[in-house]
Amino acid sequence: MAGYQHLLAIRCGGCSATWAGESRAHCARCHRTWDNVDLFDTHLEEDRCLHPRTLGLVETKNHIWYSTE
Ligand SMILES: [Zn+2]
Ligand SMILES: [Zn+2]
Repeated sequence: MAGYQHLLAIRCGGCSATWAGESRAHCARCHRTWDNVDLFDTHLEEDRCLHPRTLGLVETKNHIWYSTE
């Protein structure tokens, strides 16, 4: 776990998503939130976004996609 810090809610300017944690990444194209920048990079294709399920990812209650591996 990260240190005991105040988690600021981050909000997307283009949809209603909010999330906490600076290491997370929110896609301005498909408006999904990714647990880290690596997952975000992996889902980006040149002209479209891959669906996280095709990458084997799982969604949390808070709509954050993460890898279980
Ligand atoms: Zn995307
Ligand atoms: Zn968004």
